[in-house]
Amino acid sequence: MTIPQPSLSSFVVPADGSFLLMKSVEPVQLYTLGEVDSVFALRLSPQLSDYIYLGQWEHQPLFGLMVPKNETVDPEQFVNLRSLFDSLGNEMFWLLGKGIHLIHWHQNSRYCGRCGNPTEWNPKEGSKTCAACGSSTYPRISPAVITAITRPDPRSPTITQVLLAKHKGRTTKFYGLIAGFMEPGESAEQTVVREIREETGLEVKNIRYIKSQAWPFPENLMLGFTAEYAGGTLVLQEDELEHADWFSRDNLPLLPPNISLSRYLTELVIK
Ligand SMILES: [Zn+2]
Repeated sequence: MTIPQPSLSSFVVPADGSFLLMKSVEPVQLYTLGEVDSVFALRLSPQLSDYIYLGQWEHQPLFGLMVPKNETVDPEQFVNLRSLFDSLGNEMFWLLGKGIHLIHWHQNSRYCGRCGNPTEWNPKEGSKTCAACGSSTYPRISPAVITAITRPDPRSPTITQVLLAKHKGRTTKFYGLIAGFMEPGESAEQTVVREIREETGLEVKNIRYIKSQAWPFPENLMLGFTAEYAGGTLVLQEDELEHADWFSRDNLPLLPPNISLSRYLTELVIK
C-alpha cells in the first residue's frame, strides 16, 4: 500500500478511545495537521509513524492521530462518533470509524503479547512488530452475528412479525435485534442458534446470511442474518434483555438509526 505523507493541509482526526476531536460538528470540520500542533500546543513532533492513514476525503489525505485527553485539549471538543450518525455522510462516517478502530488497536498493542517488549508500528504492513522476538500482530476484528427472527402473525398469518428487544443497561430507547459475539470453534450459523437460544429461549430454522457491516465500537464486524421462528416460548435472559416482543410493520417501536445493520435487517423482513 502506498501511504501519503502528512502535509500541513492534511486533515487529521485526533482521537481518544471511541471519541473524535473535531473542530466543529455542524458542519463537520476536522483539524488540519498544522492546526493540531498550533491550536493545542501538543508538540507531538510529528513523526510519520504517529499518523495513521485512513484514506482520501475531499481530495485530501485523512489521518488519525492519537491524542491523550489532557489539559491542552478541551474535553468539549471530543465527540462520540456514534452521536454523529445523522450529521455525517456514509463515506465520512466509515472513514472515521476506521480511525476509531485503528487508534483503539494502537493503544492496546503497545507491548508484545508474547514477550512483553515494546512493539513498533509498521505503516506499510499495517502491523506491529516486536523487535525483541519478531512477533507481528495485526488489528483485531471481532465478529458478531445479528439476526432478524420472523414468524407469521398468529392472528393474521399473511403479516410477518419480527422479534425486537430492548437491551439492558443502555441509555438509548431503541429496540434492536438479537446479537452476540462468535466463540472459538463456532460457525456464524451456530452462533446465531446459540445466541438466540441463550437470550430468548427460542429455536430458529432457515438461517440465511444477508450482509455484513464494520462496527468500529471498537473493533467489531457484524454479520447480518435472517431466521424463521421454529419453536419455544419467549424466556428472556434477564441480565441481557429488558424486554422483547413480536412486532409487525404497523406497531414498530423506536428503531436504531438508518445506518445500523439492525435497522436494515428489520426493514428487510417487515413487509
Ligand atoms: Zn516479543
